[in-house]
Amino acid sequence: MTDRRQFLQAGALAAGVMALPRVGAQVQGRAKVVSTWDFGVGANQAAWKVLSAGGTALDAVEAGARWAESELCNPTVGRCGNPDRDGVLSLDASIMAGDGRCGSVAALTDILHPVSVARRVMEQTPHVILVGQGAQQFAVQQGFERQKLLTPEAEKAWREWLKTAQYAPQINAERRGRPGDSSNHDTLGMLAIDASGALAGACTTSGMAWKLHGRVGDSPIIGAGLYVDNEVGAATASGVGEEMIRNAAAFLVVELMRQGRSPAQACREAIARVVRKRPEASKTLQVCFLALDRHGEVGAYALHRGFVYAVCDKDRQDELRDSASVYSSGQA
Ligand code: ASP
Repeated sequence: MTDRRQFLQAGALAAGVMALPRVGAQVQGRAKVVSTWDFGVGANQAAWKVLSAGGTALDAVEAGARWAESELCNPTVGRCGNPDRDGVLSLDASIMAGDGRCGSVAALTDILHPVSVARRVMEQTPHVILVGQGAQQFAVQQGFERQKLLTPEAEKAWREWLKTAQYAPQINAERRGRPGDSSNHDTLGMLAIDASGALAGACTTSGMAWKLHGRVGDSPIIGAGLYVDNEVGAATASGVGEEMIRNAAAFLVVELMRQGRSPAQACREAIARVVRKRPEASKTLQVCFLALDRHGEVGAYALHRGFVYAVCDKDRQDELRDSASVYSSGQA
């Protein structure tokens, strides 16, 4: 188990520290994986094991998301996530291949690997999204074990919150910072391209802390938190999911790339759209986009400072980039 701080302190970001498989430049070729936030470094490494061995982008993003769901201990991803206002830890995840196949689960409880359930939805059902009890029932039928996931730390944090906080959906119930900032964000959004040029993406999250029971964020909504199209590229998001849903944001980023924008330009324009829709709310909410085009170009843009993302390919296995491209400060 690793929390973010320990992970960083362990020096995992130091160049060359990680010994990752290097099967040969030919297989690794154009393969690349990018992920949101600092823990994206660890998730990328799990995905790179698949990509560097010649595996598919789809298998890679599932492996990366699984790493975040079980190995990371973070208040907004996977088993260590903070619960909703009723003390229930519910998880959202999605997976999408560049040929249009996709699956997701929302408000899933007591299952360790929502991203793998999402993949089963994609592969074993005629549907795209399963939610709540139905998603859990399907998971159990598929052989996933039911287990209690809420950690004592998350339960304690929830009890603390109960003492003082008023629920207000558009702002951070923790009152510790900007909604969507490091105290209340951290969806893993991951995008990959494999040696054959196929794209895939995955998202996994416990969503916004102290959300209303039953709230679904952007991460399991195809086109909001994740969209992938082999013809163009892929996009994912982190931050306050309601803004992504309102703007069909990941789809928007991909469509802007289709019209000729670079990944960074497309992300910036999507952020501008978010701001135009809700200028006042945009002053206090964080929204971040990450995109990868079919040529392997990466771009990102965030509404406010603080968004970092991780890039991994045959030349760099543990790179962390600060998204200096921040809309609120006018930086391009
Ligand atoms: N986008 C996620 C949600 O709204 C949370 C996050 O990325 O911080 O559920």
